[in-house]
Parts: sequence; structure tokens; C-alpha cells
Amino acid sequence: MKPGLGDNVLVGKDAVCYKREEPTRSMITVATFSKPEDAHLLRMRLEAGGVDAYIQDENTVQMNWLYSNAIGGVRVQVGEKDLETAKEILAAPPANPIEADGTECPDCSSLHTAPDDLPRRMSLLSLLLLGFPFPFLRRRWRCADCGHTWRPSR
Ligand SMILES: [Zn+2]
Repeated sequence: MKPGLGDNVLVGKDAVCYKREEPTRSMITVATFSKPEDAHLLRMRLEAGGVDAYIQDENTVQMNWLYSNAIGGVRVQVGEKDLETAKEILAAPPANPIEADGTECPDCSSLHTAPDDLPRRMSLLSLLLLGFPFPFLRRRWRCADCGHTWRPSR
């Protein structure tokens, strides 16, 4: 007898739930970093690709970065079932356009930067109210880590 569509959906849901409740004993380290923020960047890339990624030893490293080398740095781990997907993500170049652009915060050297939308909106507002955009309200960049804003020199 051919199972109905409802049966298939139920089986699929159960399978996913079972996997999520599995203990994480078969974790595999896919990368190590000396800086926790680099590990977080990779974790975000993995999770964007549908892989559950975990960071180990982060607290130890933050308490004393000298320990970082001793314990092999901050480890990014994935479950065994996600290893192949994680490898594909690691092999691919970063899809994040901000990361690829490499605009560094002049204050803290973070790469968590993005164009600040506010000056553009204000420029549009001045265009509507005054008939011309304020030339000094050009695109600025904002650092997500320290909140610093600046105008790129180029
Ligand atoms: Zn910054």
C-alpha cells in the first residue's frame, strides 16, 4: 500500500527531532582559531549553510589568551552527520560580501563592518526638502563591534 503524503511528513519530522536530541558526543573539530571572533565567523558561515556548529574552549581562551596555543586554540566543531557539508562550506570562498570587501574598522580592526544607512536616508531627505543632497552626507561605514563610524577614504 502506498503511504499517503501525511505519513511521509510525519516520518520526516520524527527523523529530524531524533537527530536534534542526539547527544553531541561524536563532535568533530573542523577548524581551530587563536581568536574567538574568527571562530564565530566560521560558526556563522556553517550555520548559514545549515550545519549546527559549536565552539569549544572559548571561555578558556578569553580568560587567558596564553592558553590558546596550549589547548590548540578555539575549536569549531560539527556533528559527524554534518561533516561533509561543513567541508564543502570550508572549501568554498566566504559568501559574505562584507568579509570579501575587507573594509576594516579603523578603530578596532574588526571586519564586522557595514555601510551605514542613515546618511543615505538623510541625504535623500535633504534632496526632497532642499532639492539637492548634502554633499557631506555621503555613505559612511559603521563597525558592528565598537560602533565606530567613518567615511572610507577611497
Ligand atoms: Zn570597530
